[in-house]
Amino acid sequence: MKKPELLIPAGNFEKLKVAIHYGADAVYLAGPEYGLRKKAGNFPLQELEEAVKYAHEKETKVYVTVNIYPRNSDLNGITVYLKEIENLGADAVIISDPGVIHIAKKTVPQLPVHLSTQANTTNRESALFWKNQGVKRICLARELSLQEIKEITKKTDMEIELFIHGAMCISYSGRCLMSKYMAGRDANEGDCSQTCRWKYYLMEDKRKGEYFPVEQDERGTYFFSSKDLCLIKYIPELIQSGASSFKIEGRMKSIYYNSMVTKIYREAIDTYWKNRENYLYNSEWEKELSKTSNRDFTTAFFNGKADNDISTSSNAIQTYDFLGIVKEALSQSRALVDIRNKFVSGDDVEWVGKRGKPASLKIGSILDAEGVRKKEVVQPNEEVIIQFDAPVEKYDILRKKRNEGYPHKMPDS
Ligand code: SF4
Repeated sequence: MKKPELLIPAGNFEKLKVAIHYGADAVYLAGPEYGLRKKAGNFPLQELEEAVKYAHEKETKVYVTVNIYPRNSDLNGITVYLKEIENLGADAVIISDPGVIHIAKKTVPQLPVHLSTQANTTNRESALFWKNQGVKRICLARELSLQEIKEITKKTDMEIELFIHGAMCISYSGRCLMSKYMAGRDANEGDCSQTCRWKYYLMEDKRKGEYFPVEQDERGTYFFSSKDLCLIKYIPELIQSGASSFKIEGRMKSIYYNSMVTKIYREAIDTYWKNRENYLYNSEWEKELSKTSNRDFTTAFFNGKADNDISTSSNAIQTYDFLGIVKEALSQSRALVDIRNKFVSGDDVEWVGKRGKPASLKIGSILDAEGVRKKEVVQPNEEVIIQFDAPVEKYDILRKKRNEGYPHKMPDS
């Protein structure tokens, strides 16, 4: 049994650095074209080259997505683009479309091909089919049970990648037409409008224009909107399944999300790997994951049949605000912090680092980047110096629990 890779999304260079700091073994990202997240902060080619170099210096692999379902007019561009990806040293290319695999095999035969979850591989014969086409790794459909996953890993002898955390589609990935139909934006060309997350009403045919609320709860109904997948409780089963790579969803999620989710899964995988016989699940892990933006959690299809309670009545739940990230540790306990949300001197906040539990911290005096004592309030996009009460490290995170009176309502807001 080989220790599986932890594969983290990197929506931009900063997220890539943070993911690596918090324990990613590999990152996946998109270059300027042909990925599936038009709105994610995709990498321009030159930056992609720098990102690959940076990741390799940290012994982290980089996989580049080329996973749209292209049209004829895209094919020449894709051929050129695949060569560029190979030249800049990417470790693999993530593809959904058989035509693009065909082009990759002709033009960049040395570049490993990973089959995207968009191709919906749901059984071992499909996996073997793709293996025969020269695919090195398959990211299986998210709709499989543990039993099905085990059978595929056992009978195919190839690298299998699994989504273990993050947003789910209500349809098979790559087969959803909702967004195109309702908003004219094609999810399969990287432009999903998240139509499944919208609020819906019921209208009886003869009473046009009368919208009857369907109430899952006081917010209305969101029956197409799935809860987020969370398999933190199943790390031993996942590792024993023989899968090679555990993937986190979310190239458009925040740095806070990336860092915390990476931290928790890193800890869980390492804990099991170090001492399998005496492994104990830590219930704090799920609690910590729930402090990042989520739509409530489900194990989806992992346990054999679909979770009956898979749809969520809410949009993303956010119980904590991301206040800032340490840009530079200036001394053992003083750091320059890049601010992302407003807070004030005297606030009780939480401080989380790469290892260990979150610590409480009362914000004392705040200095500006030149070291001059600052006003009491810090605003997003400022950089300020904050005193910590223990050694602080670059990329440590500050966050604050949402409660009555917080976020602060300032006189001018
Ligand atoms: S509309 Fe929803 S189900 Fe369809 S692709 Fe987008 S996120 Fe997935």
